[in-house]
Amino acid sequence: MIFKEILEEQKEFFNSQKTKSLKFRKMYLEKLKDLLVKNEGLLYDAIYADFGKSKFDTLTTEISFVIKDIDYFLNNVTSLSKPKSVRTNLANQFGSSKVYPEPLGCTLVIGAWNYPYQLSLSPMVGALAAGNTCILKPSEIAENSMKAMAKIINENFPKEYLFVAEGGVEETTEILKLKFDKIFFTGSPRVGQIVYEAAAKHLTPVTLELGGKSPAIVTSSADFEVAAKRIVWGKFLNAGQTCVAPDYILVDEKVKDSFLDSLKSYIEKFNYQPDSEHYTQIINDKNFERLVKLINQEKIFMGGKTDAAKRYIEPTILQNVTWDDAVMQEEIFGPILPVLTFKSFNEALRQIAAYEKPLSAYLFTDKSEEKEEFISKISFGGGCINDVVMHLSNDYLPFGGVGNSGIGNYHGKYGFEAFSHKKAVLDRATWGEPDLKYPPYTEKKLTWIKKLL
Ligand code: NAD
Repeated sequence: MIFKEILEEQKEFFNSQKTKSLKFRKMYLEKLKDLLVKNEGLLYDAIYADFGKSKFDTLTTEISFVIKDIDYFLNNVTSLSKPKSVRTNLANQFGSSKVYPEPLGCTLVIGAWNYPYQLSLSPMVGALAAGNTCILKPSEIAENSMKAMAKIINENFPKEYLFVAEGGVEETTEILKLKFDKIFFTGSPRVGQIVYEAAAKHLTPVTLELGGKSPAIVTSSADFEVAAKRIVWGKFLNAGQTCVAPDYILVDEKVKDSFLDSLKSYIEKFNYQPDSEHYTQIINDKNFERLVKLINQEKIFMGGKTDAAKRYIEPTILQNVTWDDAVMQEEIFGPILPVLTFKSFNEALRQIAAYEKPLSAYLFTDKSEEKEEFISKISFGGGCINDVVMHLSNDYLPFGGVGNSGIGNYHGKYGFEAFSHKKAVLDRATWGEPDLKYPPYTEKKLTWIKKLL
């Protein structure tokens, strides 16, 4: 069936008001949770076939993430959907004012390949919890994962409510011609622009979850053991194919050598060998080749081994890197970690600010002045002090980019808000209104109005 017809059916279904019922939303959220649990094996096998991701990683960074989101909405959708009373100003007395969360309607979610389940299903869950219909278009690059989601959902959900559209650029281009009430896109800034342009034709609101080069600053007061351990974990998780992974390190030049030694010891300890169950492959040959070209052999501090047949790239640290090197010209999105140095903390902040606003930024320090300057002087989507990546796992924080790294945010209640309109309603009493507002206007009325305003 063509996408246009499915969207027509979803429009009709949305207009039937069924998706607005809380009972209906909870029933399907429960159903989705059940399906994910029952089909765990299928989901593990599919992602393993795509890029060798282990069960442990798939459970902790994908499936449990989505189940946690479903549980959050099952517990909170009733209160999130309630109208919120706000104050009513003097000019509108006697009256009451409320904000009604309203589903936007028919939504489109476009996912990326690097966490194929989480990045497709989590926004989708937000769309359903907020009372919308949804067409989900996962990334075709993680093909088996896309097919697994399509099988589980399309065989168990009415397509007029929820449908997984399989396909690549050609299909997405067709889908983007249609008029949705909301588009939620996760992917690169380049494709984000294409999506934004297509949405603009219909004045469709968008959330764009994009990428960029996320820095990690390590100052001389940092706890090196903690910094190295956490950076190594966050960088080489999913073989560096994580949107919030530290893209590069900026370390105080005075402590560079000892910090490099700490990084090395954790890389060795965490065992990222080709046969290690916990180290994923590079997603495809195209990305493998792109990454290999970014490894400047003369600047390797450790690592650098690659195996094209296994699409394996060893965790690689580059040192003496400059801002002009190829590796600093694009988001790396792989297991290569360039290390640059700075002389002063302010210089480091200035250099970060010279780039596009990153999705994430990280600072390792013991000094509160540095923490304050880091937060106030550079703009970034979100981040951590003395950690990496983990801000994403706290659903009380909004998750999203700024500028080139995105528009809007989600997770927890922010995911509900991303798919809701805040309808503002003033409900006025039919009595007790002074005559001031109505003509004819007199000097006396003017004097009163001046006093009131
Ligand atoms: P991508 O932009 O290539 O693809 C994303 C989606 O867009 C896919 O579903 C794909 O089918 C579709 N697409 C690709 N080309 C298209 C076109 N010409 N027209 C219409 N649709 C098109 O991104 P990717 O390679 O899947 O993911 C990597 C990028 O995503 C990185 O920049 C990364 O930082 C970013 N990312 C961001 C987040 C986040 O939460 N902010 C999460 C993961 C990845």
